[in-house]
Amino acid sequence: MASIFGHGFVAYTIAKVVDSTSHRLLVGLAIGSAMLPDIDVLAFSFGIDYHDPLGHRGFTHSILFAIIWSCILAFIFGKSRKLMFAVVLFLSTISHGLLDAMTTGGEGVGFLIPLDHSRYFFPLRPIKVSPIGIENFFSEWGVKVILSELQFIILPCIIVLVVLYVFKKLNFKK
Ligand SMILES: [Zn+2]
Repeated sequence: MASIFGHGFVAYTIAKVVDSTSHRLLVGLAIGSAMLPDIDVLAFSFGIDYHDPLGHRGFTHSILFAIIWSCILAFIFGKSRKLMFAVVLFLSTISHGLLDAMTTGGEGVGFLIPLDHSRYFFPLRPIKVSPIGIENFFSEWGVKVILSELQFIILPCIIVLVVLYVFKKLNFKK
């Protein structure tokens, strides 16, 4: 994983960019959805192997999971904007796996589970992998993770948000 902060900030940015109304509930659901896939670390406590389709970076990081999850939430909360909810929540959920596939460590991401159990990384992997567990996060490793996420996740997101802000301001003036 990247850290939950990194995942959450990317989802916040996606929601702001895709949904021009910045619907609060949608932004909140998007952030939660981007953090959700790492719930699969619980698999370790059930003795499920990392490489298992249900192991860490397995099914909950897949495209199918993102589709099912976003459709369920869109159906429950989307009201008259189900399609917008589905799109933003799909992108937020799958962004988690995409970030993980750019990290320096762990296993690859099972994007195609259950069709194909292979794990994938992108050729470019600049993000330092985040430790599993809070005690490891507050360590030298944690500091390195934060610095790498500031550079490769937070800063690009801030640039996107600033551009979006300026663009909206200019549009309102017309
Ligand atoms: Zn993950």
